[in-house]
Amino acid sequence: MELTGIRTLDTLDVTDRVVFVRVDFNVPMADGRVADDTRLRATVPTLKRLRDAGARLVLGSHLGRPKGKPSEEYSLAPVGSRLAELLGTEVLFAEEALGESVGRAARDMPLGGVCLLENLRFHKEEEGNDASFAMALAQLADVYVNDAFGTAHRAHASTYGMVRHFEEDRRAAGLLVSRELAFLGPLRGQPKRPYVGVLGGSKVSDKIGVLEALCGRLDTLIVGGAMAYTFLRAQGVEVGSSRVEAEHIETAARILRTASARQTKVLLPVDHIVATSIDAPTGQPTETETIAPGWAGFDIGPKTIARYTEVVSKAATVFWNGPMGVFEHPPFATGTRSLAEAIAESNSTSVIGGGDSAAAAQQFGLADRFSHVSTGGGASLEFLEGRELPGISALRAGHRFL
Ligand code: ADP
Ligand code: MG
Repeated sequence: MELTGIRTLDTLDVTDRVVFVRVDFNVPMADGRVADDTRLRATVPTLKRLRDAGARLVLGSHLGRPKGKPSEEYSLAPVGSRLAELLGTEVLFAEEALGESVGRAARDMPLGGVCLLENLRFHKEEEGNDASFAMALAQLADVYVNDAFGTAHRAHASTYGMVRHFEEDRRAAGLLVSRELAFLGPLRGQPKRPYVGVLGGSKVSDKIGVLEALCGRLDTLIVGGAMAYTFLRAQGVEVGSSRVEAEHIETAARILRTASARQTKVLLPVDHIVATSIDAPTGQPTETETIAPGWAGFDIGPKTIARYTEVVSKAATVFWNGPMGVFEHPPFATGTRSLAEAIAESNSTSVIGGGDSAAAAQQFGLADRFSHVSTGGGASLEFLEGRELPGISALRAGHRFL
């Protein structure tokens, strides 16, 4: 099991202790306010559980890319205010992420008290995984919890370096990270079959690793989105002016060969919705897999939708990464919406990995009907590629730190 060797909150003793929780509060901001608090709400169960158990919490996160320097634009202060509303308690905000005064303030909080540190990436030492910075962070707390799956693929001071300073019985995965591992873990093993992967989105190059890792595991690989045109080119099909990554046509051909050798069936679009520009008010169906010169494909066509939804409706496990078309524009949203609906209506264990795919499911009001929507875009892909994520390895008993 993916959780083997990783302590969860069930067996973590936190009463009367200061717990450092690495959270993912990298939320969209607008006009100095939190524009979307999904990520904050996603951590509330972990924070509530720890507070109820009598812990004092020090929360650490990054926000955006401040490049190692303080800047008001990337301050976590507004996040602290929103979190206070969500938790229904005061959240102490530490403008300095570090220092004795912060440590003292954290220890002086009442049981259940919550302190949020300023953006850790205001210090270049965070991304540099600097040893003394990591040590200083560790000194703020007695126990370490990682609940930031979205940054678990980075070996930073707060996700990796500081963890070595906590004994094995004092480091654990939060509820969100535990849930991610419980759902994503089986996908890189042998989940219930038929196991179907729905891969789309903008680029083959972003997804090569996961495509290769899933070939041979999947019963069927469904390909859509702009990525499909590079695959069609690899089969010699003309695709007009659709987006093709010329330098990856050979990669696509190789993936098709691997899939066939390992008995994974690959489905490519047999028709498309095309237009002369992405801004066109409507698209036209092609009837064929080829696309005429001057036209570009922006969505899968009706015949393709029928084939794809039929496969998905019979699946036992579905992993979906990458929209089937330019779903942000209504004329090109039907393919993505139809697939999302078919997955939601199936009896499968369904997992979405990928920020835009999750946004699409949300936009269609279907997100709640998936078994799991991963909070980590890049992290979930790296995990499925079979790589060990540093932020997860660090939690494992017996891990040897670099
Ligand atoms: P995710 O974030 O779910 O991993 P990606 O980032 O790979 O997905 O891709 C999402 C983007 O791909 C969307 O913005 C969508 O508009 C774009 N896209 C999908 N199909 C096409 C297409 N046929 N042509 C151009 N862009 C496309
Ligand atoms: Mg994306």
